[in-house]
Amino acid sequence: EKLQTQHSKSEKPTFSFEYFVPKTTQGVQNLYDRMDRMYQSTLPQFIDVTWNAGGGVLSQLSTDLVETSQSVLGLETCMHLTCTNMPVSQIDEALESARLSGCQNILALRGDPPVNQESWKPVEGGFRYAKDLVKYIRTKYGDHFDIGVAGYPEGHPENVNDKETLLDHLREKVDAGANFIITQMFYDADIFVKWCEDVRAMGIQVPIIPGIMPITTYTAFLRRAQWCDIHIPQEFIDKLDPIKDDDQLVRDVGTDLVVSLCRRLLESGHIRHLHIYTMNLEKAPQMILDRLGLLPTHDEPLDNHLAILPWRKSL
Ligand code: FAD
Repeated sequence: EKLQTQHSKSEKPTFSFEYFVPKTTQGVQNLYDRMDRMYQSTLPQFIDVTWNAGGGVLSQLSTDLVETSQSVLGLETCMHLTCTNMPVSQIDEALESARLSGCQNILALRGDPPVNQESWKPVEGGFRYAKDLVKYIRTKYGDHFDIGVAGYPEGHPENVNDKETLLDHLREKVDAGANFIITQMFYDADIFVKWCEDVRAMGIQVPIIPGIMPITTYTAFLRRAQWCDIHIPQEFIDKLDPIKDDDQLVRDVGTDLVVSLCRRLLESGHIRHLHIYTMNLEKAPQMILDRLGLLPTHDEPLDNHLAILPWRKSL
């Protein structure tokens, strides 16, 4: 049966929050309080927790965070998992810990090459590409986990000039068993919409979830866009550059720009869910949702919470 990949404009959009793992246990504690407050005031459909490529202490903090947010805070949680420099035993431990805490969503990633290492080699017996990890999780856990993969509307540093190959690789990840796609951040709605059309033309039918990065300061905005090598529409520069030294104004105008971006994405019919990169901040995501009219009201306080996850709904 054909999956539903175009969405009705009247459907109320849903949203989710990404959090990264703080470097200290005190930072993690503070984050729990923030996650809980944000949950109470906005009701995201799910949250996800990043993974520090390469394993080590920070990956232990990732699994702790997933466990607490899923089983103590009661948030539907998605765990990122990378396979760079990760022995299979460590991947097994992470997946088992997620499963035991009740987490049923994994974003399966390759991870970036370690800094100062030009080319990347898989560890002995490890995985080379995200699709290998997807296949492994599907084989080992069947349908227990919903599995997401990363999408790059503006290309990946290793395929900047070869978007077609990148789409082939995206299709391989979906063929290996992934059932949703979360994208890299972007600010150009036209590029995203065209990419969605290309993704669908490839026969990829799983839900696409756009990654939305709030604008908090001008420096951070430019730095992140340059880091991901994404196109900044001229309108963003025209509106933000003249006020770049006033952080409060940048946040206000930046929020309006991101809100119009979100509206255009929703109007395109390709998506019905917004994934917000919170950068562990509370206010910026809240301002975006407020201006989009997506904060819960007294009439429908549990609406978002009760909605089925975007990828489960489409299956
Ligand atoms: P892949 O899909 O495996 O692709 C990696 C590269 O290999 C691509 O250039 C692809 O075209 C190429 N490739 C794939 N298959 C083949 C093949 N068969 N033959 C030849 N080439 C191939 N990083 C983290 O460390 N932690 C995180 O928590 C994290 N979260 C992320 C969340 C999102 C939504 C996104 C978009 C990225 C995230 N990343 C994270 C970054 C990600 O790990 C890097 O971008 C990484 O370089 C690529 O990961 P991938 O899963 O897309 O890899």
